[in-house]
Amino acid sequence: MALERTFSIIKPDATRRNLTGKVNTLLEAGGLRIVAQKRIHMSRAQAEAFYGVHKERPFFKSLCDFMTSGPVVVQVLEGENAIARNREIMGATNPANAAEGTIRKTLAESIEANSVHGSDSAENAAIEIAYFFAGTELVG
Ligand code: ADP
Ligand code: MG
Repeated sequence: MALERTFSIIKPDATRRNLTGKVNTLLEAGGLRIVAQKRIHMSRAQAEAFYGVHKERPFFKSLCDFMTSGPVVVQVLEGENAIARNREIMGATNPANAAEGTIRKTLAESIEANSVHGSDSAENAAIEIAYFFAGTELVG
């Protein structure tokens, strides 16, 4: 087992419904520690760069519209196998396919407005953390 850090976003559908605390409760109950957290309103440029890997996908414009539609909470989560563990706690991208008890099954509105983001690899976790946080903001 390895102590890892992963990057997480509580998306605008969840902040709009005042679910930040509920998401954090599920993350903490799943064994992850929030070692950095801030509420921001993403700019268009930030959203387009963050989701750049999806820029050829048909949902890219809609996704960037959604991610800039309201505040988000960006976070760094720490724990044993935090990257894979967070993906388990989040559940499948489409809440209709997500397992019982996952954040997306419990809280998400749709495949797009699916309440949370989580890094999918160690390499992307490091890139995504550095995109939103300075090293001095991570307090483990
Ligand atoms: P995940 O967030 O589970 O890693 P992806 O990286 O495939 O999923 O997609 C990034 C985000 O794009 C998703 O979380 C969701 O908000 C949105 N998305 C993915 N697929 C679709 C789709 N078919 N239609 C609309 N939005 C989508
Ligand atoms: Mg992804």
